[in-house]
Amino acid sequence: MKLYTKVSQLNRVGGVLERNLKRLQIRTVEDLLYYYPFRYEDYSKIIDIKDLVEGQEVTVRGKIEVIASKRSPRKRVVVTEAVVADSTDQLRIVWFGQPFIAKTLKVGDEVFFSGKTKTDMFGMQMVSPSYEKISKHGDTVHTARIVPMYPLTSGITQKQLRFLMTQAVRATEQIVDWLPEDIRDRVDVMNLSEAIKAIHFPESEEEFQHAERRLKFDELFVLQLRAEMIRQSIKSSRAPKLEFKEKEIKQFVETFPFELTKDQKVSAWEIFQDMETSEPMNRLLEGDVGSGKTVVAAMGLYSAVLNKHQGAIMAPTEILAKQHFETLKKVFGENLRIGILTRTECTILNFEFKSTSKAAQKREMLEHISKGDVDIMVGTHALLTHDVEFKNLGLVIVDEQHRFGVDQRKTIREKSGDTDTVPHFLSMTATPIPRSFALTLYGDLDLSIIKHMPQGRKPVQTRLVDPHNRNKAYTFIKDQVKKGRQVFVVCPLIEEKDTSTEKKSVMAEYEKLSKQIFPDLTISYLHGKMLSKEKDTVMQKFSDGEIDILVSTSVVEVGVDIPNASVMMIEGAERFGLAQLHQFRGRVGRSSHQSYCFLFTDSTTDKSKKRLKLFESTTDGFKLAEHDLELRGPGEVYGMAQSGMMHLRLATLSDKELIKLAREVSRGIDFEKYPDLYDKVGEWEDKVHLE
Ligand code: ADP
Ligand code: MG
Repeated sequence: MKLYTKVSQLNRVGGVLERNLKRLQIRTVEDLLYYYPFRYEDYSKIIDIKDLVEGQEVTVRGKIEVIASKRSPRKRVVVTEAVVADSTDQLRIVWFGQPFIAKTLKVGDEVFFSGKTKTDMFGMQMVSPSYEKISKHGDTVHTARIVPMYPLTSGITQKQLRFLMTQAVRATEQIVDWLPEDIRDRVDVMNLSEAIKAIHFPESEEEFQHAERRLKFDELFVLQLRAEMIRQSIKSSRAPKLEFKEKEIKQFVETFPFELTKDQKVSAWEIFQDMETSEPMNRLLEGDVGSGKTVVAAMGLYSAVLNKHQGAIMAPTEILAKQHFETLKKVFGENLRIGILTRTECTILNFEFKSTSKAAQKREMLEHISKGDVDIMVGTHALLTHDVEFKNLGLVIVDEQHRFGVDQRKTIREKSGDTDTVPHFLSMTATPIPRSFALTLYGDLDLSIIKHMPQGRKPVQTRLVDPHNRNKAYTFIKDQVKKGRQVFVVCPLIEEKDTSTEKKSVMAEYEKLSKQIFPDLTISYLHGKMLSKEKDTVMQKFSDGEIDILVSTSVVEVGVDIPNASVMMIEGAERFGLAQLHQFRGRVGRSSHQSYCFLFTDSTTDKSKKRLKLFESTTDGFKLAEHDLELRGPGEVYGMAQSGMMHLRLATLSDKELIKLAREVSRGIDFEKYPDLYDKVGEWEDKVHLE
């Protein structure tokens, strides 16, 4: 067995189990090994039956004296009862609905039973314990030890998964430790193969602690190394000094139909300060949707242009790029030459191309960019293709930077036209990441935060709607559409990564709304299985007001600006993280129209009701993100999954000591001395980008 051996080669894995494992992203032995338990039950102490106390989770070892199944008359369930004995006493054991047990366990078998004790009128008993026959070699998997509990999906049981793990851990010896020995010594962690083995089957609480510490360190260290890699490459290069021209910038700001907020002013000032030095700026501008980041970005771009340099701004999608283009058009008016280049757009403001064919126009565009005839370029990844060359790029702005990798950031830097310098770099994100966390995640970046919204916004009215009020909500929606507004309906993500289920829920909702509820309105849909061209077309139509109601999955979450939309209706709201719900809500309330967010949920648990109530009561994105971080962990928080936070599976924000240690060790590290570390970061990035 090798690490890359397919799980289908393992004992007792048939086609069905193989498919179910695939849903957990487990295809190989290695995938299995990196599928960690989410908790453990400590059954390591074997207790004499005579010493049992009610309500404890324990393991006993006993011989079966009697075992039989019968059908319970009232519950119509098979009840299996056994009496077991050790040298001290007897114990009754009961299982419900597991008729096969009476066939597996026989009188005379020596068995471990792990479970909870309970007393009834006949004395002590154990209900539905895990059990395991005592084997010749004495090793146990399910009982009489610290037992791993894995996150499951339907069709897989703990027992199955544990059984597979017992096979897989035999391959841990082949794991090559990527952490050099001197670093391992310095941070005092155990080696990787031992850690992986122990995380599944710890021999003791102490061993588990050591294993966990090692694996947490790995996760945090990769993040910090990546940050350090970027930091070093930036530090080693020079950027053009872009002088802060106070008079001109002031005049520019005076043309805005509003006052800048204090946070906008501070952020802009920090950006200007950075651009004035020859050390390349590498800053993250964080601010909730609608907080006014784009305006700050525009000020930075203007500063570059005033210094006779070009600027570029990139967005993760076509539609967002177009929106930036429109915004810049508004703020700069006729004064600057602004271009847009995406898959479908190739335009320079107030400029006519000589040629008529698309390909020739693109060639003209590229020429203008390289000659410096365009001041500011807006685009998608298309700006990264090899034929785009700038004359003298002074500032690059990337929106929702977590969607761009190190390589891409490097590429754009290399297009600056000047071989001696690299452009200043500003990332923007609407994901409200608490400062401490941002430093873990983006350790290479300086941080500017726009915390407060501009005055005078009407907060979106948010309501958790009772199921029996659903029709009222529909009537309300109809009324809004009659008033000329538009509506988003977001359907739940199904937990699995399989997008066909997403599609199903969207299509079902679309059918229902268009046929039964609103047959006279124009309704369209959007889901992950559509081609990006199709998605763009639908978004464009919605943006142009040709669609009243858009039924969609979470694809609408990022930055799309439809000021005329006034209702956001979210189905299965309990399935989304608060920060993500907040992103959805940010799609409305972007104009003077009062906007509304309706949440629907099928969940009746107190916990999810409480979360949704919190969401109802606050519009503070940072507060919501923090709440989610505490409750659900980083993998669940919107925006972090894409950033690779998903891969922080054991480490958390509260691992302050390890975060600090990882940062200390990575600071100033010599990558030439440790080429493996360099490779590891690349490997990690590949993995993250696959998603
Ligand atoms: P973000 O990019 O952070 O989502 P934008 O920069 O697109 O936010 O701004 C959202 C809207 O708010 C735009 O219409 C913009 O003109 C407006 N805006 C920006 N700053 C202010 C401000 N200080 N006061 C009032 N409105 C503002
Ligand atoms: Mg914006």
